Amino acid sequence: MTNPDVLVIGGGLHGLSAALHLARGGAQVTVLEGEFVGRHASGASAAGVRTLGRNPLEMPLSVIAMEMWHRIADLVADDCGFHAHGQLRVVASDAQLEAETQRISRLTAQGYANETVIGQDQLRQLVPGLNHKFIGAAYAADDGAADPHRTLVAFRAAAQRAGVTILEGAPVRSLQHSRDGWTVETKAGRFAAPRVVNAAGAWGSRIAAMAGETIPLSAKASMMMVTERLTQTIRPVVSIVGRSLSFKQSSQGTLVLGGGIQGRYDLDSGRTALDFHALARGAAAAAELMPSVAGTRITRCWSGIEGKTQDLLPVICPGKTEGLFHIFGFSGHGFQLVPAAGAAMAKMVTTGIVPETLQPFTSDRLTLQGAAA
Ligand SMILES: Cc1cc2nc3c(=O)[nH]c(=O)nc-3n(C[C@H](O)[C@H](O)[C@H](O)COP(=O)(O)OP(=O)(O)OC[C@H]3O[C@@H](n4cnc5c(N)ncnc54)[C@H](O)[C@@H]3O)c2cc1C
Repeated sequence: MTNPDVLVIGGGLHGLSAALHLARGGAQVTVLEGEFVGRHASGASAAGVRTLGRNPLEMPLSVIAMEMWHRIADLVADDCGFHAHGQLRVVASDAQLEAETQRISRLTAQGYANETVIGQDQLRQLVPGLNHKFIGAAYAADDGAADPHRTLVAFRAAAQRAGVTILEGAPVRSLQHSRDGWTVETKAGRFAAPRVVNAAGAWGSRIAAMAGETIPLSAKASMMMVTERLTQTIRPVVSIVGRSLSFKQSSQGTLVLGGGIQGRYDLDSGRTALDFHALARGAAAAAELMPSVAGTRITRCWSGIEGKTQDLLPVICPGKTEGLFHIFGFSGHGFQLVPAAGAAMAKMVTTGIVPETLQPFTSDRLTLQGAAA
């Protein structure tokens, strides 16, 4: 087998998207996945496709990503189950409504028109049955949600059609650089390429350390709950300002509840454990949001491990050694960025130039923040 041009470490959505865009640009790409495609954050995701409430530093990339989601079938020949039913952040007090109004004014002044403030009447039309204590919301009408597994299948198949080789059960154990490029040792053998993309999610800093770089990264294990099927009444994704809850109804009628309630994780084994007390608090918040769902049976719960940085922005940048590139640490909101981050990464790998959309995401900022702390 001839050596590829690029080795991508990690078969989550960001590794697959980078591989797809690189292959479309003419590169020979091999993805080395330690377990199986989608095993961690990408397979556990709530798949909310959200510009709502994003850090303004992510907005230039997020806006491009949203345009791509609205025609995602052009990229991967499947709609990934994406529906733009909107996303809402509901508020329960005048002070919260004022804070959201001011946040959106600042966004508008920066040229973003994705969010508006709505009052109680429009909120009730969008979400019938909502608790009357919620008096308004920030609303992003073009946001929505996708199906995470359908998205994984679509990105994997599109990458393979573009010529990407995907090896599962190939955990990377060491990286070495010489003037001939990179040699990567895995449980499934040794691979070489001039360029390596580190898309190892919560393990991204471990891969960076194998190349001699220290990038501060912690992790989180967000949990999800799915209920039995109910009559379809709720279209947008709803979250509550100041609370860990996101609430949506799938096209099958089940309620899908998440929003950052945390379980426990172990990076060495890759396993997570659910925290049922925290899940109960999440279920109580859902019943507070929508009183009619109290008593609905929860049929499944899970959690997934995701890399988390100190400022909750990802690391997407060249490494310190030639030919190495990092893309990890999406801190619980990387699903929406998948199509655009992969395209920008491919551009950076191919040209060596960091696109403007990626400039806030250097690893140096984390080292500097750590030194200042
Ligand atoms: C429960 C949950 C809900 C979420 N909901 C949303 C949401 O609604 N909206 C949103 O935008 N985002 C959401 N996210 C975040 C989003 O899913 C992630 O940001 C995104 O999937 C990260 O993708 P990734 O490819 O970077 O990481 P991952 O999918 O974790 O992929 C990394 C891969 O690297 C592999 N790997 C690790 N070490 C090695 C090694 N040594 N060798 C080879 N391979 C290795 C792993 O096995 C893994 O498959 C959620 C996340 C979770 C967990």
